[in-house]
Amino acid sequence: KILVIGSANTDMVIKTKHFPLPGETVLGGRFIMNPGGKGANQAIAAARLGGQITFITKIGNDIFGRQALQQFLKEGVNAGYVISDPDNPSGVALITVDEKGENAIVVAPGSNGTLSPEDVTKAEAVFAEAEIILMQLEIPLPTVLFAADLAARYSKKVILNPAPAALLPYELYRNLYIITPNRSEAEALTGVLIKDLATTEQAAQKLRQKGIANVVITLGTEGAFAYNDSLAKLIPATLVTAVDTTAAGDVFNGALAVSLAEGLELDVAVEFANQAAAISVTRMGAQASAPFRKELLSAPLK
Ligand code: ADP
Repeated sequence: KILVIGSANTDMVIKTKHFPLPGETVLGGRFIMNPGGKGANQAIAAARLGGQITFITKIGNDIFGRQALQQFLKEGVNAGYVISDPDNPSGVALITVDEKGENAIVVAPGSNGTLSPEDVTKAEAVFAEAEIILMQLEIPLPTVLFAADLAARYSKKVILNPAPAALLPYELYRNLYIITPNRSEAEALTGVLIKDLATTEQAAQKLRQKGIANVVITLGTEGAFAYNDSLAKLIPATLVTAVDTTAAGDVFNGALAVSLAEGLELDVAVEFANQAAAISVTRMGAQASAPFRKELLSAPLK
């Protein structure tokens, strides 16, 4: 069993020739609305890969929140601890994408910003049952700290995907089992500029020194670097033709949680996560691109 605690958003995307300048209105292409948010993306990716997922998140009392809830249920995620915020709208991201594929995004966290330690406490029974707790940083940091602390009290393994990058207090690190920054997040957390294998290892080492047993730095097309006291290894990405890398990291984290919950060793778990993320980049979308378990060639046997 896996407990995911994090954000749910609705992504509203419009393609445009060029970004509007201040005061300018531009006509864009077709409007697309997609369910998103790192928490929801990771919960759904993990569910599709066969994980038994409970998702703690906070939605607004509005159409976006109701749609998000429907999506969790459709994907087989236990939504029994999805909380409704009567005072704030659901989280939305307004995304414009220009001709070059660059994006400009404004996120209104809405109800994600009010997910509180008290909300997490209501799900304490789930902490007792879960093997893995998976979190990101799109909810208030005090809530992440509280949940990591609660997980530690139950001796549960916490995976933190430190995205978007933020400075983390010292007390958090010792409650983490794995941290999974991407390249830029690892740089932000350590101050090490990642240029090659040596600097990747240096960054991983710095994170380990903060008290985390396992570090996994994702490196896009290069794969992921796994580091603990018996492992320092670049596990190469699966070679694919990428069409949309949105949520690659989310699928990676969801998959990592599933494979670790099944008891796989870190390097095998990372291999599985690489494969799942590689499939996702060959397809458009965030949640829509997440693969199902049967699509993975060398799925863990357990
Ligand atoms: P994020 O999406 O969070 O920025 P990365 O870019 O590091 O994170 O990607 C996460 C993981 O997704 C990588 O470790 C890798 O396994 C996979 N991945 C990303 N881009 C590609 C790609 N072009 N081809 C194959 N795998 C990819």
